[in-house]
Amino acid sequence: MASLKTNLVLAHTCESMPANRSVPSEGSLRRRRRVAIRYDACAHESCRNNPNANPPYDRDCRDHAHAMPPNGANRVLLHSCCAPCSGAMFEEMLEKNLNVTIFFYNPNIHPRKEYDIRKEENKKYALKHGVPFVDADYDAKSWYKRTKGMEFDPERGTRCTACFDMRMEVTAAYASKHGFPVFTTTNATSRWKDIDQVNASGLQAAEMYPDVQYWVYNWQTDEMTLRKYQISAENKFYKQEYCGCAYSLRDSNLYRKKHGIPLVKIGGETAGLGTRYGVYFLLRFFFHHHSNFSVSLSATLKTPKRMRRKSRKMSCANFFKMQQTTSTTKSSKEGRWLP
Ligand code: SF4
Repeated sequence: MASLKTNLVLAHTCESMPANRSVPSEGSLRRRRRVAIRYDACAHESCRNNPNANPPYDRDCRDHAHAMPPNGANRVLLHSCCAPCSGAMFEEMLEKNLNVTIFFYNPNIHPRKEYDIRKEENKKYALKHGVPFVDADYDAKSWYKRTKGMEFDPERGTRCTACFDMRMEVTAAYASKHGFPVFTTTNATSRWKDIDQVNASGLQAAEMYPDVQYWVYNWQTDEMTLRKYQISAENKFYKQEYCGCAYSLRDSNLYRKKHGIPLVKIGGETAGLGTRYGVYFLLRFFFHHHSNFSVSLSATLKTPKRMRRKSRKMSCANFFKMQQTTSTTKSSKEGRWLP
C-alpha cells in the first residue's frame, strides 16, 4: 500500500514546462480581450422555473447541466492551490466517479516554508483518497518575472490575472501532454477570488491546446463553501492567512496592522470550522479597505519620480520589517484570510 501511495506522486520539472511561461504579458493584459464565459442553464426543472434563481441557475442546486465535465470527459486534471480549496472539489468529482489527478503548480506562494506546508498538506489529503498528485517544481523565479511591474496591484487586479494565466497555461500544457481532455482549478472555489477572472484565464489557456478543454463550473455555491470548511475542520488543515504571494502577504499585514489584528503567522495553528465560516462580512470589509489602499498607492505613483522612489523604499523597508516580526506574533481567529 505504501509503495502504491508513493507511486501516486509524480514530479513535473521546470524543464518540461512551456518556455514562455515567465514572459510578462503586461501589454496584452491591458488590452486583454473579453473571454466569453458560458455558465450553462440548469437542467433541473425547479431551477428553470424559479424566477428568483441566481441566473442562470440556483447557486445551490447540484443538478446543473454543466455539473459534469465538457463533452462527457471522465479524466480531469485539477489544478490545486491548497488542501482546503481542493477538498470539497475533488470529493464532488470522486462522487461523480471522475478520474481526477491533482496538479500542484503554485510558484506564487511565498515564503518557501508556506509553500511546503500547503503542498505537503494537499499531497497528504490527495493520497488519503488515492488521488494521484503531480508535484510541479517551485518555479518562483518565473513567477516574479511574469508579475514584474504589478507589485502594487490590489488583489483581483492585473497581477492576479497574470498569476492565474501563468498557472493555467502550465496546467493546460501538462493536460495536453499527458492526455487529460479537461482541466479546471480550485482557485475558482474561493469566494476571495473573482470567479470570472479565474475562469477567463482557464479558458484562454485552453485555447492554446485544441485537445484540451477548461471546465467552467460555479464552485462557489453556499453548499460547496460549507462543505469546504467542514472538510477543513475535520482534517484540521493548516490555517493559511493570506492568498499566497509576497505582495498579498504584505497587503494582508498592512490591513491587519491598520485594524489592530496580529500579523500573519507562517506555520500557525490548524483549522477549525468555528468563526471561519460565517465571517463572510470580513471578505467584503477587506476588499473595501484593500481598494482604498490601492487608491492611495496609485496616488503615490502619480507623484514625481524622485518622491516615488523614496516612498517605494519606505514601503519596502516596512514590508521587510513586518516580515521579520511576522514569525513572532500571535495569530487571531478574527483576522484570518479565508481560502
Ligand atoms: S494575490 Fe493571490 S492570485 Fe493575486 S497574484 Fe498574489 S497569489 Fe496570485
